[in-house]
Amino acid sequence: MKVKVLGSYGYPEDLSGTTCFQLSERVIIDAGRIFRFIETDPNRIEYVLMTHAHFDHLSELPFLIDATFGFRKRTLKVCGSRKTVDILKENIFNDLLWPDFSSINLPGSCTPSMECVVLEEGKVFRIDGFEVVPFRANHVVETFGYLVKDGSTGVVFSGDTSANGKLWDIVNGDETISAVFVDVSFPSYCGERAALSGHMTPKTLKEELSLLKRRVDIYIFHAKPFYFPDIEREMSCLLPEVKVLKGGEEIVVGGGVV
Ligand SMILES: [Zn+2]
Ligand SMILES: [Zn+2]
Repeated sequence: MKVKVLGSYGYPEDLSGTTCFQLSERVIIDAGRIFRFIETDPNRIEYVLMTHAHFDHLSELPFLIDATFGFRKRTLKVCGSRKTVDILKENIFNDLLWPDFSSINLPGSCTPSMECVVLEEGKVFRIDGFEVVPFRANHVVETFGYLVKDGSTGVVFSGDTSANGKLWDIVNGDETISAVFVDVSFPSYCGERAALSGHMTPKTLKEELSLLKRRVDIYIFHAKPFYFPDIEREMSCLLPEVKVLKGGEEIVVGGGVV
């Protein structure tokens, strides 16, 4: 499995942008920064797996459907927990802030250009050859992390989260999982702010990794760019084996960065 990092920061910094991971031509996780690094046709994106409805994770979603609804062949499915999709419907796609694209059909058809799909914690969702299992993250709003498997390999995406023992239970219990993408947003001297806002620091991650019983590759995302040099410096001392992601990179799961 390959994961293209379309956006990797927790703030819209010029190069790396906010969170978005591409699993295939048809599937992305979150929609913070889509367009800058995508190399496939955005009209073919069919599933957006939303971790939660914070702005840094949805900022290019309104533009994705706006730019593609006149060209796409299939409905864009925006997937997430009941609460996440309700927030999107009530606050973004409400014909006030942005059009309600679920009431706008694809050209020449009776099929809506967008629909919201509710996912349930622990329940397998099959899309484009992947098995996706949502699990609960520890954030300030309802947030899913996702376990994604392609048959032979598994990857865990933490979602925005503070310490989350459940995540490491999942990784310890499944030998096919070979990579974890995990939130580290602040340097450890901002530990209180990180805990209050539902994120991790390098120190939290190091404590969390003591729960890990298997060898997997760890990648961090969601760094706040104004702290990025401090986070990178701290990571290289505390956890030198962990990779700090940047926008545009492609991760071959189990095989490193392209
Ligand atoms: Zn975020
Ligand atoms: Zn968040």
